Amino acid sequence: MTTINDFDFKDKKALIRVDFNVPLDEHFQVTDTTRIVSAKPTILKILEDGGSCILMSHLGRPKGVSPEFSLKHIVDTVTEIIGVSVKFVDDCVGSTVEEAARSLEQGEILLLENLRFYEEEKNGDLEFAQQLSKLGDIYVNDAFGTAHRAHASTTIVAQFFEGNKCFGSLLAKEIESINKVFKDSKKPVTAILGGSKVSSKITVIENILDKVDHLIIGGGMSFTFIKAQGGRIGDSICEDDKQELALEILKKAEEKGVKVHLPVDVVAADAFSNDANTQFVDIQHIPDGWQGLDAGPKSNVGFSFVIAQSKTILWNGPLGVFEMKKFAKGTIELGNAIADATAEGAFSLVGGGDSVAAVKQFGFADKVSYVSTGGGAMLEMLEGKSLPGIEAILN
Ligand code: AMP
Repeated sequence: MTTINDFDFKDKKALIRVDFNVPLDEHFQVTDTTRIVSAKPTILKILEDGGSCILMSHLGRPKGVSPEFSLKHIVDTVTEIIGVSVKFVDDCVGSTVEEAARSLEQGEILLLENLRFYEEEKNGDLEFAQQLSKLGDIYVNDAFGTAHRAHASTTIVAQFFEGNKCFGSLLAKEIESINKVFKDSKKPVTAILGGSKVSSKITVIENILDKVDHLIIGGGMSFTFIKAQGGRIGDSICEDDKQELALEILKKAEEKGVKVHLPVDVVAADAFSNDANTQFVDIQHIPDGWQGLDAGPKSNVGFSFVIAQSKTILWNGPLGVFEMKKFAKGTIELGNAIADATAEGAFSLVGGGDSVAAVKQFGFADKVSYVSTGGGAMLEMLEGKSLPGIEAILN
């Protein structure tokens, strides 16, 4: 895997695809700087080598040129975070941009205008990619959040940098983390899959059955399994048309020697509300009119026990409706168990959607080994797909 550490950027212009698709408030202020902060190590390494950086990104989903999606809104924030004054050019291709890139000196940063002002970006247009390629000597992809898209700046442009392309440190870290779970993992490996639906995680389950020793299935998706096994799940969320699939998954897991752990009890509520009445019930016997909205205490103890024995842990999806305080305990206890196992030396990766939000909300981000920065991209990695943005650098 070629990374920025394999290059000396002295007197080189690095064309870096970053993911600066950050949320803005109504005054165009950045409300979450995580993605900018994540790109900092790559930018600093290049500047410290004596190179210069041309940063390109998309922001939002503009239809053509729309000022509210201009990357000019984030110039001050990027300047503040990187600690170097950032220059801005109000286009991303063409002679003005080429001149701005050419006149860039050692240690300087140039931010280009939103790539998605051109539909050629999403279309993966070759000519547009070639125009972008004129701006730098070395292409660096550090945008994990868009690595699953074959867009001009994430994938197509790489072909113009034969021998001069590499992963930024963020993207390299994402790849290393998933490899630590799937390729060079220390056993036992445990995956925890939660969230609302079996259907959205089915490809992930199928892919990881070959790679894990334990599979904990929690959250809303567990009820489809319990019902398929003949349990009474009351009004809990369920995909009736996926019951057969659930049984097939359990059979396959058994054949492959994967131990599946489902919740044994739940916090049942008489309404989907934080003000609902609640009771702990056996997951096989949830009364009509009640729905399971969180893992119960016995389940939490059982899951924590499995996690304590694990050397590698992958977590995707909450164990309950953690957005409501009354149903967050299962997810919090799971986070605690993973944090404890990590402190004992296990490798833990949290990625792909709502579990990242939960980890941040409950303060576990610093207590797990790695929190992935790309929801959709990480899900596709967990599904075993190769991502075009990654392939473009490897090939
Ligand atoms: P996903 O996007 O598939 O990872 O699902 C995440 C969502 O699943 C969160 O918004 C949770 O509130 C929801 N969820 C988790 N457990 C349950 C449950 N028992 N019933 C309904 N929704 C749930």
